[in-house]
Formats: sequence, C-alpha cells, structure tokens
Amino acid sequence: MSGRPDLNHDRLLGRLLGPAGPEMSCEECFEQLDRYVELELGGADPEAAIPGMRAHLEGCSACAEDHDSLRELLLSGGACGRA
Ligand SMILES: [Zn+2]
Repeated sequence: MSGRPDLNHDRLLGRLLGPAGPEMSCEECFEQLDRYVELELGGADPEAAIPGMRAHLEGCSACAEDHDSLRELLLSGGACGRA
C-alpha cells in the first residue's frame, strides 16, 4: 500500500540516465557539443547560447568526457586531421 511503484521506477531510471532535470538528452547534448566547446574556447558564454548544456555535462559523466576530449582536441589544434 505504499502507493506508486511506477513513479519510483521513473525516478530510478531518470537517475541512471542523467541529471535530475531531463532538459537535454545525451543525443541533443552530443549534437551541440561542437558548438558549445567552440563558444567556450572563444570566450563566449556557451550556457547562454545553449541553455541546459552545462547542467547536463555536470550530471552526465559520459558527455562530460566527450566534452573534455573535444576541448583538448581543439586546444591542441588537432581538429584539422579529422574528417
Ligand atoms: Zn549525456
């Protein structure tokens, strides 16, 4: 009688999938990642251009890793060699 197992399940799933606020999916995050890093490196405010991105990166280690490696790649100037 404790009530709603479905709700509990949704919460658990949300936790596994990412941050508490499901504003952005990993797919959306990935699509915007290039632009986000470019803005970031360009001294702009990427969070203003792509709201929710930072929160996703903070809550999602997989995307955070992608973000870090992309940033390193751009910083090292190695982007030219990639198709
Ligand atoms: Zn993600």
